[in-house]
Amino acid sequence: MDAVQVQAALTALGQPKFRWDQVRQAVFGQAVSSYDEITVLPAETRRALAEKFPLLSVRERRVDVSGDGRAHKALLDLADGRIVETVLLRPSPTRWTTCISSQVGCAVACTFCATGLMGLTRSLTPEEITDQVLFWRQYMMKKALPGRLDNVVYMGMGEPFACYDQVSTSLKILIDQKQFGIGARHISVSTSGVAPKIALFGRDFPQVNLAISLHAGTDELRTRLVPMNKAFNLAALAQALRDYIQSANRKIFFEYVLLKGENDRPEDADALVRWLDGVGPKELLHVNLIVFNQTNTPHQPTDENDARVFQQRMLAGGYKSTVRQNLGRDIDGACGQLVVLEKDQ
Ligand code: SF4
Repeated sequence: MDAVQVQAALTALGQPKFRWDQVRQAVFGQAVSSYDEITVLPAETRRALAEKFPLLSVRERRVDVSGDGRAHKALLDLADGRIVETVLLRPSPTRWTTCISSQVGCAVACTFCATGLMGLTRSLTPEEITDQVLFWRQYMMKKALPGRLDNVVYMGMGEPFACYDQVSTSLKILIDQKQFGIGARHISVSTSGVAPKIALFGRDFPQVNLAISLHAGTDELRTRLVPMNKAFNLAALAQALRDYIQSANRKIFFEYVLLKGENDRPEDADALVRWLDGVGPKELLHVNLIVFNQTNTPHQPTDENDARVFQQRMLAGGYKSTVRQNLGRDIDGACGQLVVLEKDQ
């Protein structure tokens, strides 16, 4: 929902100011699915709003639910016929997190990522980004799913810092107490390393979590896995992160997808530790290890034992490190698996 447009429409319809409060409380607080459910509004106003400004700029095409019920993946239609994917996850019994997309496809082309194989179609608007959260809130209400959706991660399709303006506007909407009211510390934005935007992000959103999609500790290996490393190499990334730490003084999370025989060897772990040593204080750097989720790429997942050895080397190097649980693998909704296939078009 575009709050600015709806407020302007209410004014144009001659409605008093408190009508907007009624709309926003119903939409963001009660997660109503249609204007018709906002019965405190005059019927004519409800009709006029529904005609001009649909509550959601995205429409459900399909939702898949994982066998354990802890991951839900939605394919959403956009107004121009494009499709985007978004995921709702339940990492613990009472907590829900949504993984949202910022673009249709992605130009970064990480070799292990299904989205990267699609190429970039376009960036999403701020409304299309935040409406993914609204969609899941409405979905949880309709399905009577217990618990609260109060964590948002920008780790779906796309590189968020390639469309910084749209992402920045969407973050303001999510944090705004009069709209979504999600705590900034409950939001994470993940970038594959658009260095010039990192320090800016630290200044604009010092309370929002930053994650770096890293995957290698040497330029040679990283350029092979994350081609954008040619534009912003590890030295440039380290400098940007030092600037970020200086302005935000926040913990940084590093995502490292473990690929069998490619970046999961002890020497790869040691290279990573050496690079991290040049970034900042150890207590501010956290390495999330992700066992590769099978995609239509030539890579293979690392063995569990190799993942543990890698983690031990991180810990021995003085860095906090966790092996992330992979929810939603069975519905292709886990990290790196989001893609719009031809059959879905
Ligand atoms: S991992 Fe992220 S940045 Fe890389 S191709 Fe996939 S969506 Fe793009």
